[in-house]
Amino acid sequence: MGVWHRIGQDALALLLAASCAGCDRAGTLLCEACRMRLRGERHDVRTPEGMMVHAALRYEDVPARVIRRLKEDGATLLARPLGDALRAVLAVQPADALLAPVPTSRAAFRRRGYRVPELLVRRAGGVPRRLLVSARRTGDQRRLGRRARAHNVAGSMRAIGSGHGRRVLIVDDVVTTGATLDEAARALLAAGFLPVGAVALAATPRLRPPHDTTEFTARG
Ligand SMILES: [Zn+2]
Repeated sequence: MGVWHRIGQDALALLLAASCAGCDRAGTLLCEACRMRLRGERHDVRTPEGMMVHAALRYEDVPARVIRRLKEDGATLLARPLGDALRAVLAVQPADALLAPVPTSRAAFRRRGYRVPELLVRRAGGVPRRLLVSARRTGDQRRLGRRARAHNVAGSMRAIGSGHGRRVLIVDDVVTTGATLDEAARALLAAGFLPVGAVALAATPRLRPPHDTTEFTARG
């Protein structure tokens, strides 16, 4: 048996062993019905500090399952359709803004071997700029409420270099309370960048809707 034939068989075996990330249907990584559920449609939400976030998907049902498969199960092929969804919200952003992904903690990078927000930006056709880095370790955010999250991430990031007023769009995969995005904006401002807003692949439905009119003001 030739090597290419063997590789073909391996690929086929892998595909047959696969199940749809959205609905568990066998024989595919993502079925057509679930792929349709990943079409990006802009949902606007606001962070606790009032910064506008354009999210492509609601973090529930099929999109939530597919994103978890990418984040927790190493299914990096799913970054392609998810990147397409993100592209829909990146397309309406000011073209001159640098795209700064929220930094991935060292622990998460060791576990996964890739940085999810950065990978998504690439798959969306953008150029990610690693302007933000983790300044210290943070506790696991998942079990924390809104106030505790904000406290947990305060001072956890810093921006590299000096911004000289350059406009930056912050990018994250999933927005839960928005505390992480506020911290990213704080770090960017402190380094002289001008954060113009944020985009996310998905936002949890419990986030504040945009008609809550508390103004986002740039704070140094
Ligand atoms: Zn499916």
